[in-house]
Amino acid sequence: MDIEKALKRALEENQFHLVYQPKIDLKTGQLNGVEALLRWHHPRFGIISPMELIPAAEETRMIIDIGGWVMHEACKQVQEWQSVGHSRLNVAVNVSVIQLEDDDFIASVKRVIERTNLAPACLELEITESIMQNTKDTKMILQQLKELGVRTSIDDFGTGYSSLHVLQHLPIDALKIDQSFIKGLDESGASPMVKTIIELGLNLDLDIIAEGIETDFQLQFLKQNGCTLGQGYLLSKPLDGANFERYLKAFSAIH
Ligand code: C2E
Ligand code: MG
Ligand code: MG
Ligand code: MG
Repeated sequence: MDIEKALKRALEENQFHLVYQPKIDLKTGQLNGVEALLRWHHPRFGIISPMELIPAAEETRMIIDIGGWVMHEACKQVQEWQSVGHSRLNVAVNVSVIQLEDDDFIASVKRVIERTNLAPACLELEITESIMQNTKDTKMILQQLKELGVRTSIDDFGTGYSSLHVLQHLPIDALKIDQSFIKGLDESGASPMVKTIIELGLNLDLDIIAEGIETDFQLQFLKQNGCTLGQGYLLSKPLDGANFERYLKAFSAIH
């Protein structure tokens, strides 16, 4: 399969859609926002996982167009939800390093904000730790995002290349503890890594988001140790737009 052609076609023929995974404030139990996650429904091959799609899109640099579509679609959708009463809903979008290093990136974020009318403070860009290898440009790009009023977080924190020295000088807003650390959280013993990452983040004045929460034990542990936000199947799976609207209704009814 000519993957580049297939990806171009997918964009043109609307084969992509987004699903939204709720992010819960662990202190108040309130809904804080959603993470938008890309899904590709190929007419012949069916659902293709982002784990396959994203690397192919990065290799062909199609991630620049696809990532631009994701950002626009997510901001447009969340702005619509805000306008029908969910005014405090935030949205997080995953951004690839290839996008971030593209000369047009900052301008493209500006365009999305202008076109969708979303308040910049409601948008968070999730970036993986690999950006820290290119420290000079990274800092400048993150600084420009901050000036736009957009939030940034380091995704899958703890699995990559973070140097603590670099971390303390980056103008970011949050750390997302990688799922693998959360998986290891069970009754069998203490989890020094999770505790330490939470403490590190809090000391740097960052929000800490735990992803991949699947058990009540994990949830309680994270709450007790001061983790700010949580995401995971226990709280909710990623939902398509229609199902997220049902979730919003049910959530507002309970809370
Ligand atoms: P991520 O950003 O770390 O997203 C979290 C992944 O964990 C998502 O997988 C989500 O569906 C899954 N997940 C959430 N809660 C749980 C849980 O409780 N247990 C388990 N086992 N998994 C959980 P997904 O949607 O397959 O995405 C995988 C990765 O693909 C993402 O990891 C992200 O790195 C990348 N990705 C997805 N959408 C985009 C996108 O629009 N742009 C870019 N650049 N990357 C994306
Ligand atoms: Mg993410
Ligand atoms: Mg992650
Ligand atoms: Mg991940």
